[in-house]
Amino acid sequence: MVVKVLVDTSIKTLNKIYDYLVPEELVSEVAIGKRVYINFGKGKGQEKEGIIVKIISDEENTSSVKLKSIVEVLDSESYIDEKKLKLAKWISKVYFCNVYDALKLMLPPSQKGNLEKKELNGRQAKIICLAKSSEEIESKIQSGEIKSARHIKMLKYLMENEYIFLDDAIKTLDISRTVINTVEKNGFIAIDHIDIQNEDYSNVERTEKLKATDEQEKVINCLIDRLNRNEFNVSLLKGVTGSGKTEVYLQAIEECIRLGKTAIVLVPEISLTFQTKRRFIGRFGDMVSLLHSKMTILERQTEIKRIINGKSKIVIGPRSALFVPLKNIGLVVIDEEHDTSYISQTTPKYSAKEVATRLCYLNNAVLLLGSATPEVSTMYKAKAGRIDLYELNNRPGKFTLPSVEIVDMKEEKLLGNKGYISGKLLYEIKDNIDKGQQTFIFLNRRGYASNVICKSCGRIIKCMNCDVGLTYHKKINLLLCHYCSYAESLKNTCPYCKAENIELLGAGTENIEQELKEAIPGISIIRMDADTTVKRGSHEEILKRFSEEKINVLVGTQMISKGHDIENVSLVGIINADSTIAGNSFSSGERGFSNLLQVSGRAGRGKIKGRVIVQAYDTENYVIESLEKQSYEDFYNKEIEFRKMSEYPPFKDIVLIEFSSKFKNELQTSVNKAHMWLVNNKIAECTITSPKAPYISKVNNNYILQIVLKANLNDKVYDYLYKFLQEYDKINKKDVKISIIKNPIYI
Ligand code: ADP
Ligand code: ZN
Repeated sequence: MVVKVLVDTSIKTLNKIYDYLVPEELVSEVAIGKRVYINFGKGKGQEKEGIIVKIISDEENTSSVKLKSIVEVLDSESYIDEKKLKLAKWISKVYFCNVYDALKLMLPPSQKGNLEKKELNGRQAKIICLAKSSEEIESKIQSGEIKSARHIKMLKYLMENEYIFLDDAIKTLDISRTVINTVEKNGFIAIDHIDIQNEDYSNVERTEKLKATDEQEKVINCLIDRLNRNEFNVSLLKGVTGSGKTEVYLQAIEECIRLGKTAIVLVPEISLTFQTKRRFIGRFGDMVSLLHSKMTILERQTEIKRIINGKSKIVIGPRSALFVPLKNIGLVVIDEEHDTSYISQTTPKYSAKEVATRLCYLNNAVLLLGSATPEVSTMYKAKAGRIDLYELNNRPGKFTLPSVEIVDMKEEKLLGNKGYISGKLLYEIKDNIDKGQQTFIFLNRRGYASNVICKSCGRIIKCMNCDVGLTYHKKINLLLCHYCSYAESLKNTCPYCKAENIELLGAGTENIEQELKEAIPGISIIRMDADTTVKRGSHEEILKRFSEEKINVLVGTQMISKGHDIENVSLVGIINADSTIAGNSFSSGERGFSNLLQVSGRAGRGKIKGRVIVQAYDTENYVIESLEKQSYEDFYNKEIEFRKMSEYPPFKDIVLIEFSSKFKNELQTSVNKAHMWLVNNKIAECTITSPKAPYISKVNNNYILQIVLKANLNDKVYDYLYKFLQEYDKINKKDVKISIIKNPIYI
């Protein structure tokens, strides 16, 4: 028997498939989609991982070439079928990556380290945490006592995060058990146990489907019809939180299961709350599998097994849940389809919405997108009739829009207010405390202050490796780089001009907390940001405390916009709205708008009418204006005009070609050549910009240059780009890396 094996090589243009013999004793183990070890290259070669993509029986095999044999079959189950293979090929084409990189999305973590055997002892998991203070470790790194890059990487991770699961450390930080042992022996880390809080769903009450409202019934019937006809279809369901979207998902899933098919529900990671899970489990019991990033690898593997053996038919999870080995997929739901967590920031940089569309197309399945503020591109398709549009406008419960007031911070500064909180907002907070009501304060930054500036020379203290300002974190008293996790202690003197005139700049959640405490003695405040929510379940924990202990104010970042309603919150204050809508991507405006609208919506979910105070400098900005009206339609109309004028999606795709290198001159030469080729071979469909350095022009000591191409991405344009990649491989120096990103949301 011969198998065709796709080999995991790092060479960009290599997607080649090789033939290998299957030794007699492995014949019963091979199957399409299983991983194998093979010897790759001339002579004895190098042991590499590959994946079986085709099996050729002895009768079919007419070749007389002498082949090498596969060494070992790695998987006991196959995670990849023909459809998944097709999907991987498609991903590799449209996101410019290797087929193997795409397949890796669908494979469980590598079996290295025999996870089955250890790590879990009853309901405990092994974790790694720091054994010394961050400061002490930082000073040892500075002084060169800790030198190994791997050790530093792990320690820096632990300075920013409370702990990491042992098995995750091996996988995500890519460090071996030996490295961990060494660092432990040196006394910098400790290996500890924590209890796995397996949330207990065993006594979740079973629920029956609700009698659908007329609006809901219309959508549900259409979906049921499509599911019965095995017809590929994409629908958008627009409705604010609480309008009954989830009930629609549940009833569509019910039909899907009745027809013997399976379903995937994507939710933003942060919305995977106990409430969400309980609703699905209440309706469908243990045929539901939940996946999230704070599970250990073993927990995840247990769920994957239940999916493979068919016990689990409904999978709920973040974007990666698209790739689970479910058979016979009938329905995919993407809740809050505008959420940016659906776009991967690591290779392959895929959009879950696009991949889900392809997945449904390959499976003749139905894709249902839900949102209160659909992505402008999605809404455009719906209005143009290319996908179906349903709206839920009448909430089952009573609800009125909050009243919104914009505070012009320019005037506030003229009046001499040096703080971050306007007089108006302060007044309203006090008023709320007097009335026994609670307040949310939102800003989109974490840490104590965003940057550190020298008031003598005016320079911002930057990272040694990156062209970005360092961020001060009060709790650990360190300056951190959010791009490369470089850390240093805060010093009194400026590293550039040596003056002793250092000041913290810009508001963080900790600043707001302090300012409020000074302005309103006796106020109770709780914070919620990435620093206070590393632990599993802590996001919910903070909301629970806030609600139960009637804490006056919750100060937080993006996270406060999600989670269950707290009826007693009647005021939402938004600090520096400008920074939420600023950005240099085509989609900054829409992300800011949906964010701010969602945050505003947290005010007045109970009987009390909500108030929202928006503090901004650029009060004339159309995003702020639409926010004042609390109107998605108003925003959409202005945004789509802007997109059309600037030839941005959905009118044209943006292709960002990014070059990076440690060597500035080589980078420039290489990029110039690339640009020349692109221009000389240009096809009519494209426009091409000259090479430019991005706003952050150096990350981790790599200089960056970018070329931006605008076009409607069709086969002709893909051909052009692939030809470019091949040619570039010939002209490029080895030290320059290239990557292509489609419609990037961060530039
Ligand atoms: P969304 O997903 O849009 O936030 P939900 O489906 O969670 O909305 O519905 C909001 C609330 O309204 C929930 O408590 C839900 O149980 C209730 N609800 C939804 N549909 C109905 C219905 N047809 N009849 C009665 N209550 C409903
Ligand atoms: Zn850095």
